[in-house]
Amino acid sequence: MADSAPARVVIENCAVATVDAEDTEHASGHVVVQGSRIESVGPGRAPAGLEGVTRRIDGTGHLVTPGLINTHHHFYQWLTRGLATDSNLFDWLVALYPTWSRIDERMVYAAARGSLGMMARGGVTSAMDHHYVFPRGSGDLLGAEIRAARELGVRFTAARGSMDRGESDGGLPPDFAVESTEDALRATEEAVDTHHDPSFDSMLRVAVAPCSPFSVSTELMREGAQLARRKGVRLHTHGSETAEEEKFCHELFGMGPTDYFESTGWLGEDVWMAHCVHMTDADIEAFGRTRTGAAHCPSSNARLAAGIARVPDMLAAGVPVGLGVDGTASNESGELHTELRNALLINRLGGHRENALNVRQALRLGTHGGAQVLGRADETGSLEPGKLADLVLWKLDGIGHSSIADPVAALVLGAAAPVTLSLVGGRPVVEDGRLVTADEDEIARDARDEARRLARIAAH
Ligand SMILES: [Zn+2]
Repeated sequence: MADSAPARVVIENCAVATVDAEDTEHASGHVVVQGSRIESVGPGRAPAGLEGVTRRIDGTGHLVTPGLINTHHHFYQWLTRGLATDSNLFDWLVALYPTWSRIDERMVYAAARGSLGMMARGGVTSAMDHHYVFPRGSGDLLGAEIRAARELGVRFTAARGSMDRGESDGGLPPDFAVESTEDALRATEEAVDTHHDPSFDSMLRVAVAPCSPFSVSTELMREGAQLARRKGVRLHTHGSETAEEEKFCHELFGMGPTDYFESTGWLGEDVWMAHCVHMTDADIEAFGRTRTGAAHCPSSNARLAAGIARVPDMLAAGVPVGLGVDGTASNESGELHTELRNALLINRLGGHRENALNVRQALRLGTHGGAQVLGRADETGSLEPGKLADLVLWKLDGIGHSSIADPVAALVLGAAAPVTLSLVGGRPVVEDGRLVTADEDEIARDARDEARRLARIAAH
């Protein structure tokens, strides 16, 4: 090997769940990482005679999987957790908008570090954030999130959100919480131009993401879609989350959410939508036909009494489905592991019962499915040679998991498994359950201080 070739890291003696197209697994296998990419995956020990090995990890008692991929979140809500705990979506939003409209750059930075840190220590290697609250004079909020993700070393999709339909235009948010249509479009275009990196190894993509039908004008939906397509970036929004939203769409637009999205250019393989709970058979067929993706957020849907998304029907129709934490004001745990488990459990409470999802499908939603909806399935989401070295080594020989026979069942159905190592592009982000790229205690202190500052400001 030439001196300039990237170093190799070898992980062996562990169970391997590749989540490739055939769901290939090895009871005891290896993964070799070279630089930022996966070089080889297979059964047994790593090939003998590899040169340039800088680290050799004995994975005995562990399972290695692709890193988890989060497809829907609102980082700023890290500072407003545990409020309006008995409300449905619309009441909860109306209760929280006034506080949210007081956020600033320092708060968003602290919230992003908390959100990202919590997800990363739980095995998330690709994060996304849908940020749509931009109070006048609050600083560079998107920049604060991007800085936090870069510092923590987590792959990131920053969805530049927006709201321009205030109360006086028939929308749900108060007028003081929204931007003008022109300002929203200009700032979104600027975010794409400044930050979006389309490369294979990209640590940062930007998406165009007006917030929801009940907080965004039809003009902003239409022009947002045109902007995204002109720039070649993806589109994201909330869709079909609650019965109230469905009613709102019928009253205001004379059609249901999916027809409204279609009429504004919002169905397509470059679009993914959070929730997709209240979908008719025809809606699901339209998503499948157009390959529009869904971010399934079971904990948030349960917390806000929204309903059960029909994930088995969506998968059968060919809809790409990933998992989402959603904002932590409606899912205080802030972990994606919980969503693997809850996706399976909640769908078994729905119409499909025991034929709903199995543990391997749940893991697929949280990995490959996430990569699909973020438009990165060629680069990440499975353990295959040539893909990015985004992977997690889960410790399954401790008290929580050692007696569970199937390692994938242990990961999905068991307690949150400790992360012995997580790599993003070959670089360690977590070692032995702790973040190595940031000081967790300092993140916790800073988040608490900024949450109190926000509460103080909002009270005046
Ligand atoms: Zn959301």
